[in-house]
Amino acid sequence: MPFSLPSRRALLGVVGASVVAGLTACTPAEGAESTTTALPPSAAVGSPEAPAATAATVTPTPTPTLAATKRIRRSFIPDYQLPPIVGGLAPVITKIPTKHPIVFLTIDDGNIKTPESVKLMAEYDYPASLFLTRNTIADNPAFFNAFKAQGSLVENHTVTHNINMVRQWGYQQQLDDIVGMQEYAVQQYGRKPTLFRPPGGAYSNAMRQAVAAAGLKAVVTWEAKANAGKMDYQVGNSLRPGDIVLMHFRAEFAADLAAFRAAQLAAGLEVVLLEDFLGVA
Ligand SMILES: [Zn+2]
Repeated sequence: MPFSLPSRRALLGVVGASVVAGLTACTPAEGAESTTTALPPSAAVGSPEAPAATAATVTPTPTPTLAATKRIRRSFIPDYQLPPIVGGLAPVITKIPTKHPIVFLTIDDGNIKTPESVKLMAEYDYPASLFLTRNTIADNPAFFNAFKAQGSLVENHTVTHNINMVRQWGYQQQLDDIVGMQEYAVQQYGRKPTLFRPPGGAYSNAMRQAVAAAGLKAVVTWEAKANAGKMDYQVGNSLRPGDIVLMHFRAEFAADLAAFRAAQLAAGLEVVLLEDFLGVA
């Protein structure tokens, strides 16, 4: 294999440069040989069987009908633990520090309810945390059952969506507005929400206290937004593992979801349900 040496050197240039630099007694050829003998043989020996076995366990069996082609979602063993409630204050999370290639989608409010949004979420097979507001969904709460059926969960975004609640209201009034949505969610969807998103994003210790008192586990803000058909990042210009993304049930749902999808695929991330990863589903 006379042509293999350049490629081995090229490989060393990327992978083993620092290692070889330390091996001053070795010639480059020896260094290359000792490095590459471990790589191609193992790849050559392992390739006929190992990838086939992996493919068999990971790839869902192709099926002819559209209804049966729902792919199997990958699951990830959590490498992050939600902080506990300390001193009566619910923890606040903006992103999840994780090494897994995952991203979390959250969709808020519930104003615009279109069949198209149901269809798109099903087509992309995205599970999402739905932070819904009682007064916004009360005209048609059943609309959100379609997302639920597909693995999304309804969470708490208050009764009235007062974006100034932190400044205008004391503890008790905040608590009432949060508890009202807890009760409504149980009544409509049969599950008590575990996560809370503040209307407008502003929170305070009084709010964190009310969130904990209402039986919720965390205040969830966000790291990136899909908004007006494009992505807005608080940090950098792409999605990163563990990002929590905010979207809304708005007229531009399709454009926002398309922006999110493009960013998610470009970053090579899998959409995972936040509640599953936090163990609060
Ligand atoms: Zn909102």
